[in-house]
Amino acid sequence: MHRGGIQKISDLLIDALFPEKPCCALCGAKLQKGERLLCSDCLGKIEPLSPPFCRKCGRPLEKENSLCNDCRGKIRSFIEARAFGAYKGALKEIIHLYKYRGERRFCELLSEKMCGTLERQNWPSFDYLVPVPLHPERERERGFNQSFLLAERISWRTDIPIYRGLVRTRPTEHQSLLDKGLREANVRGAFAVRNGSLIEGKMLLLIDDVYTTGSTADECAGALRRAGAAGVYVLCAARG
Ligand SMILES: [Zn+2]
Ligand SMILES: [Zn+2]
Repeated sequence: MHRGGIQKISDLLIDALFPEKPCCALCGAKLQKGERLLCSDCLGKIEPLSPPFCRKCGRPLEKENSLCNDCRGKIRSFIEARAFGAYKGALKEIIHLYKYRGERRFCELLSEKMCGTLERQNWPSFDYLVPVPLHPERERERGFNQSFLLAERISWRTDIPIYRGLVRTRPTEHQSLLDKGLREANVRGAFAVRNGSLIEGKMLLLIDDVYTTGSTADECAGALRRAGAAGVYVLCAARG
């Protein structure tokens, strides 16, 4: 059976065994009619980033049409990166629950927000979504790849197929645990492409949960470009 199908069945089973408690997953308030997962107060705290942005990486800036300090003087392998919201407050809590506590029910909300961000961009149409891969060891540990599940939901919403040929060839440290200067070295050469002929000349959208310094996105985009991709854009749920 297709992995997505197994995923759907296991989600249904989990829902049946553990019916959702009618309380807000963040603040614990009783949910009102029509509210699901989060109360309207908490849902209201999950806001998109507002422009102006660094035109390369999407970091919020003071001035229109400029580059942030991270992007200035740097050649990025991706064309543009954008994230739905800031990695703080309610959105950060949700991503933590999703990623580290395995609360997959947040995947739907996050992917919906990411699709909203995608619609607001003046980007070309994409041939494939490419989830940032985990090393197989890390994926076994966590039980799932948070970026793959997001890409799967986004694929259902947009009809853009998923390319699964980007792989992580060695385990890396969590980027969030490292100083800025070490992050690039941590992911350098950590990704490779299998079945590269599929993406030759194709426009790709890389999917990740959190964008920090852009080192991971850059490494992934570099590997995809070397395999012949025409261009790589990046879409994340949140950015640090
Ligand atoms: Zn709440
Ligand atoms: Zn930037």
